[in-house]
Amino acid sequence: MLKITTVYHNNLHQSELKDDWGFSCVAEHPNGNVIFDTGAKPAILESNLKKLHIDPQSIKYLIISHKHWDHKGRALWLLEQNPNIIVYMPKTSSNNLEKSLPINSEHIHSIKEHCPISDTFHLILSKNLWLNELALGIKTSKGIVAVTGCSHTGIVKIAKTMRLVTKEKIHALFGGFHLMRSSKSKIKNAVIGLQDEDINFIAPCHCTGDLALTIFKEEFNHKFLKNGIGSQYLFEV
Ligand SMILES: [Zn+2]
Ligand SMILES: [Zn+2]
Repeated sequence: MLKITTVYHNNLHQSELKDDWGFSCVAEHPNGNVIFDTGAKPAILESNLKKLHIDPQSIKYLIISHKHWDHKGRALWLLEQNPNIIVYMPKTSSNNLEKSLPINSEHIHSIKEHCPISDTFHLILSKNLWLNELALGIKTSKGIVAVTGCSHTGIVKIAKTMRLVTKEKIHALFGGFHLMRSSKSKIKNAVIGLQDEDINFIAPCHCTGDLALTIFKEEFNHKFLKNGIGSQYLFEV
């Protein structure tokens, strides 16, 4: 089974966990465990991982979606716990992301284009004028389970690119959809774009915004999954 757990987030799902602005989730898979982003503060990530029984030693890959502090803030702490983690991050012009990590350079991969990590895990690179961003696609028997960080480059564009690159339908889409400052009409366009992709489940969170969450819930109905810290989802691999 593939188990996705949201471990760092600005909204709670389970009250014994700690909430804070930022995002991180863990994908536990027979072919390797992945942590996608690390949130902002080490104490909060550490405490939530412990309560959710996720051991940093069990993590094989770290994906940093983009350069913002609320997504890569605690990469350092995690690598101190487990220096064997293999890191993937988008290539940036300044290379600040790479410089901020104190590990052997052969464990760090700066991604310049879409690339598979293995048969199971695929990275999709998208760009806008200000940043490069990675999304993760995990192959399952029902299609791709996709995770995005903030989707600054556009959630519909990311979903479409994911489908075209992996040549598979998206089964579920998790993460920040970055619509928190968007107008109703822009949110409706995102709904239409994602409905065109025929995604079975969406679990928007983080920077998606309250208005967009309400509209998505209405429009996607049973396909909408609530997502907060401690939310867990199981998929057949
Ligand atoms: Zn961001
Ligand atoms: Zn963010």
